[in-house]
Amino acid sequence: MTDSWFTRFLLVLCLVLLADGCGSAPEAVPPPDIDAANAFRLVGEICDIGPRPSGSDGGARTAQYIVDTATAYGYEPIQDTWTERTARGSVEFTNITAELGGGGGDESLIIIGTHFDTKILAGTAAFVGANDGASSTALVLELMRALKETSAAGRSTVRFAFFDGEEAFGQYSDSDGLHGSRRMARQLQESGRHRQCRAMILLDMVGDKDLTVTISPTDSRELRTKLFYIAEQQGTRKYFGYFMKGSILDDHIPFSRLGIPVLDIIDFKYGPNNSYWHTDQDTIDKLSADSLAIVGNAVIALICELNSE
Ligand SMILES: [Zn+2]
Repeated sequence: MTDSWFTRFLLVLCLVLLADGCGSAPEAVPPPDIDAANAFRLVGEICDIGPRPSGSDGGARTAQYIVDTATAYGYEPIQDTWTERTARGSVEFTNITAELGGGGGDESLIIIGTHFDTKILAGTAAFVGANDGASSTALVLELMRALKETSAAGRSTVRFAFFDGEEAFGQYSDSDGLHGSRRMARQLQESGRHRQCRAMILLDMVGDKDLTVTISPTDSRELRTKLFYIAEQQGTRKYFGYFMKGSILDDHIPFSRLGIPVLDIIDFKYGPNNSYWHTDQDTIDKLSADSLAIVGNAVIALICELNSE
């Protein structure tokens, strides 16, 4: 389904440019593509945990699963746990982050984000959010594995961010929904680090068998252009289009409000008229490993390109 030759070419080019620019030559070993089977396996394991609303036992077990998987892939994940008053009372949330490369302290930052919580659906006790939560969580973990193995660290620190509390308990507001991303954006702003943030790329609902990535025209023009160009080169351009029904409220918005260039890679056409979204139809049989590979290989190339600039 994907053009592995081009991905390898792009990554080698990236490494060559880095070596030229920095004077220190990273190993120019062509990296593997996304391991789609592994990504799909991780989706299954996350779904098997069951419902994962913020503050629930399933949510806590998912956070631990992310920490364990990231650790197994050679990272040192950090958990940030806090409590907020919500419409459902006091709820404990946990964000998880892990970083690759950089290390100088003042280098630029690229954030790759996803949420791992699931929505609480009235009348649906076993909502597993295969696409809405599990697919992007699994794919970010697989991106971490693939990037770590390539040693493709560039000029920026790449921060992988797993947000809790994306889903609103009621209606989205300044105190409901986007809990984890609002917290991280605030932390970035308080530290002044938001000024070095080169890009915030969010993945959400990326596993639909019938892949139709719907990019918002209000996202960063530069990031949109790069993504579409990469997809063109990888022969997957037909899977990437625009969302023309208004803006999408998601975890990228708190970062966008800080002036950080954002890109929300989301497929908001899930089932007929998006009818699988937030219903018990959101199960793993609607997903495919090929779709995870299409999105994952585009994102790896995008990270590499940004990291070489
Ligand atoms: Zn959702």
